[in-house]
Amino acid sequence: MRLFHEQAHLAGWQTTEIMRATVKNGNHLPHVDFIAEVKQCQRCGGNLRVQKSKKRIVYTIETGTIQAREIRKVCSMDSSHSVETSETLSQLVPCGQRYGYDLIGENLKRNLLFSVATRIRN
Ligand SMILES: [Zn+2]
Repeated sequence: MRLFHEQAHLAGWQTTEIMRATVKNGNHLPHVDFIAEVKQCQRCGGNLRVQKSKKRIVYTIETGTIQAREIRKVCSMDSSHSVETSETLSQLVPCGQRYGYDLIGENLKRNLLFSVATRIRN
């Protein structure tokens, strides 16, 4: 831990940044980058540039708990053209959600089995 602080200071981090990094990523979650797959603007075919990255913690059965970083891209010709997001991430987790589709599916199955079991029992 002390070593990390020294390293971070060497890298020019402020104490607040170190705190943020260690508190937020304190669980040593694996970081996974999800980069928008599309290579060109779907509207005009122009080149894309990275717009911003968005971090969120995501749980799925397949990946476990991960810190997902989505790299969104936007058209370099016209920023009003639609923002491209990661297809992989959106197939893994519903937009803005923490729990993956596979986890939701498991819960649905479990609830369904439970309600069937209760119905049989009664
Ligand atoms: Zn475009």
